[in-house]
Amino acid sequence: MKFRNFKMVGYVVYGRGCFDQLDEILEPQRKNNAPMIFLLDHFFQNKPLEKRIPLRGNDEIILADVTYEPKTSYVDKLAQQLKEKFGTVSGIIGIGGGSTMDLAKAVSLMMNNTGSSADYQGWDLVKKPGVYKTGIPTLSGTGAEVSRTCVLTGPTKKLGMNSDFTPFDQIVLDPELTANAPVNQRFYTGMDCYIHCIESLTGTYLNEFSKSYGAKALELCQKVFVEKDSWDDDCDDMLMMASYAGGMSIAYSQVGVAHAVSYGLSYLLGTKHGIGNCIVFDKLEEYYPAGVKEFKYMVEKNKIEIPQHLTKGLSDDQFDTMINVSLGLKPLWENALGKDWEKIMTREKLRKLFERL
Ligand code: NAD
Ligand code: ZN
Repeated sequence: MKFRNFKMVGYVVYGRGCFDQLDEILEPQRKNNAPMIFLLDHFFQNKPLEKRIPLRGNDEIILADVTYEPKTSYVDKLAQQLKEKFGTVSGIIGIGGGSTMDLAKAVSLMMNNTGSSADYQGWDLVKKPGVYKTGIPTLSGTGAEVSRTCVLTGPTKKLGMNSDFTPFDQIVLDPELTANAPVNQRFYTGMDCYIHCIESLTGTYLNEFSKSYGAKALELCQKVFVEKDSWDDDCDDMLMMASYAGGMSIAYSQVGVAHAVSYGLSYLLGTKHGIGNCIVFDKLEEYYPAGVKEFKYMVEKNKIEIPQHLTKGLSDDQFDTMINVSLGLKPLWENALGKDWEKIMTREKLRKLFERL
């Protein structure tokens, strides 16, 4: 038995308003004249947060276009642009949702690795550490702030650059930054965390490490989406810690059926991670009966619409593509259904599930 020896985030600061410590945090990381690059979620263009970014010298803000989830071509373009303009940079600071944080991780790595980020989609393919990188979430749920991956859509696959060089050197967890996120988006991203917990806690890979974090994250999600009658600052505080703990839980276990199926959907239709997971999880009563029941309650209570009939009218080839992408995610299925998962989740069975989405 070989135990996973995983790399974690270097430094963590948590608290309302801690974003204002960013200047001080970055100071020792500044090298010669190399700038800090702030990759800012385009949602914040001309918003007060943009003005609070502690620019010094030749630092730059680059607006991250997250209309689509990050692509390897976009990562390569950003890294190339920075190399041409500055040679090197002191660091990449990603401020935004999971998409912007993943972009920041990937661009940091590509500042010091040759070729295309598509060459490194997989496990432990990244050869050299990236430049210094910080993650600052403005949405809570993905756990991208703590994970050792950055999910990218490449020419042939949707897969992260999983490596010990991928986790952030620093994360800044300031729940004020998630205030006022649109209700639907906040729910979809929050449910990503809820689903991480259910998949981790009911999986065959579970151990006490994952259970401890997963149970806490689940409790926080329930407080926010089941118990609270209206959104307040406590909800932002709790959901930010739920995201962190949920991410820590899957670091030592794995996700499951919802993620495996949702990756297939997203590969073919471009469905985004949070909403895609909700669309799939809604139909998984056979695999996660208690979780799905509670999920449906949260959907109703929070007055959220879950899109239906996405796969209506797709061709056999298109169903096959989704099935292939999904079945390729072996560890997720093994975690969810055990070593004999291939006998349980046949192509026919998975096709029926996709047809219900
Ligand atoms: P997102 O980053 O894709 O952002 C969704 C939308 O919300 C965007 O339009 C963005 O501009 C906007 N937004 C961000 N912050 C906002 C705020 N405070 N107020 C209003 N709008 C705001 O959403 P997400 O759900 O956080 O992230 C999903 C991404 O994370 C996917 O690309 C997925 O692949 C990735 N992901 C990564 C990991 C990992 O471990 N690396 C895990 C799960 C998901
Ligand atoms: Zn997820």
